[in-house]
Amino acid sequence: MGTLVLLNHCLRLEDNPLLTQVEGELCAVVTLTRQQFFGQQYGLNRANLSRLRAQIDTITALKQQLAQQQIGLVLCFGNSSQALLQLAKQLNADRIVAAEPTAPEEYQLFSRLKTQIQVELNDVNSLLGSSLRPAFQSMPDRFTTFRKTLEPLLQVSPAHPLFQRRPTQQWLSPDQADALSSNWQTLIALASRDEHTLTAPTMPSFDEATVWQRVEHYIWQQQHILHYKDTRNGLSGADYASFFSAPLALGSLSVRALWQQIVAFEEQVRANDSTYWLKFELLWREFFRWQMRKYQSRWFSRTGIHGQPDFQLPQLTPKQQKLFSRWCQGETGVPFIDANMVLLNQSGLMSNRGRQNVASYLIHDLQLDWRVGAAYFEQRLLDYDPASNWGNWAYIAGYGNSEARPFNIIKQAIMYDPQAQFVKQMLPDLTAQGKQAHRPVAGTTLPAHWRNWLAELD
Ligand SMILES: Cc1cc2nc3c(=O)[nH]c(=O)nc-3n(C[C@H](O)[C@H](O)[C@H](O)COP(=O)(O)OP(=O)(O)OC[C@H]3O[C@@H](n4cnc5c(N)ncnc54)[C@H](O)[C@@H]3O)c2cc1C
Repeated sequence: MGTLVLLNHCLRLEDNPLLTQVEGELCAVVTLTRQQFFGQQYGLNRANLSRLRAQIDTITALKQQLAQQQIGLVLCFGNSSQALLQLAKQLNADRIVAAEPTAPEEYQLFSRLKTQIQVELNDVNSLLGSSLRPAFQSMPDRFTTFRKTLEPLLQVSPAHPLFQRRPTQQWLSPDQADALSSNWQTLIALASRDEHTLTAPTMPSFDEATVWQRVEHYIWQQQHILHYKDTRNGLSGADYASFFSAPLALGSLSVRALWQQIVAFEEQVRANDSTYWLKFELLWREFFRWQMRKYQSRWFSRTGIHGQPDFQLPQLTPKQQKLFSRWCQGETGVPFIDANMVLLNQSGLMSNRGRQNVASYLIHDLQLDWRVGAAYFEQRLLDYDPASNWGNWAYIAGYGNSEARPFNIIKQAIMYDPQAQFVKQMLPDLTAQGKQAHRPVAGTTLPAHWRNWLAELD
């Protein structure tokens, strides 16, 4: 009897307990579910093909790394539970070892599998190890309480060393694995179509080797980490923030290994407010992961984790539909919103500051159902992560871990883009000089609470 080692969300050799803690007859496998890439949500595609390609490239790089140790990687596309059960039957495997997910649909996959095969989930992508695993009943719903309770206790376990095949492991060979892969060529053909892609001419890579070059560059060589707290509210550029979100979401970077890199830098080079702040932001990620596990599908209710659940699909009137389409296309007439949305549509990424503003504008100024915004982000983001995305949207809407958070968009534009360089870079047709470029185009509906800040643009 053997074990299927499911490497979804754990596409790495560094700090990969799924690979290092297993013995006997083993088969490494990755599955991509049709629904997650080609399904629809509220009438929107759930993903764009650029994210799918990034994921395929990351998986292909892992396959090559494993092949160097004569280990095969079975690749399956379609219905994950069917593919895994069929594979288990073919190989006479009686166990699946996998990364513990956060999203309810992935827990559902494992619940289905558990009725037929032994499933062992290992929480390889969280900071809180088994001894600190929160009890959901008592887990605080406020980030500050969560952080203050945990920070004094937090001992992030050391990263597992780079995986090296052991004699006690009998892995399926690359040729055997290729023979068992299913529908992967169909997926490659689907992914190479020219529709539903982002428009930037080149896309970043998130494979493990590239990600570690980024860690080297950002933390050790250029030491941008020493200024993170001052630069993290930037809107575009290469190094204003870490850009670790996509590899963390894919699992080509381990959050524990990253945390240990920051700690090592603090010990060997310098610790300051900025090095602390990068860890602080990783705790936000951690918080949303546990919140998603705690409230599961409640995150997709209109009322979020508050009050009576309301799973009725968002209903937009024709007028609201038009407002939503303009928001998606970056054509609202508010330059700060449009510039950020154009950036998202081109590159699949947006700064945290930009995300907060466009979300607040959709929810509080356009007064649309927050879930359509979250669904559009799910479609466009290269770093899409269910817990961080739906948790942050609900937070700003006031249906998650905070009261509603309306931003004054004009105030934010003046504060974070004082010379309007960012909006002019993204919207080259703007001709106004300096901060005047933040003035909404004539005819745009202007919320009353912007009035004082609009006067600042005169
Ligand atoms: C409406 C909205 C939607 C979002 N959707 C996602 C998403 O789908 N995927 C995603 O990874 N992040 C999401 N975020 C959080 C945050 O904007 C991104 O993690 C961050 O911009 C990614 O860039 P970075 O890696 O350079 O971040 P950095 O500023 O360098 O932060 C370092 C890491 O800390 C974590 N982090 C930082 N801010 C947050 C936050 N607010 N919530 C959770 N984790 C955080 C991320 O893992 C990030 O990689 C969203 C935020 C908002 C307001």
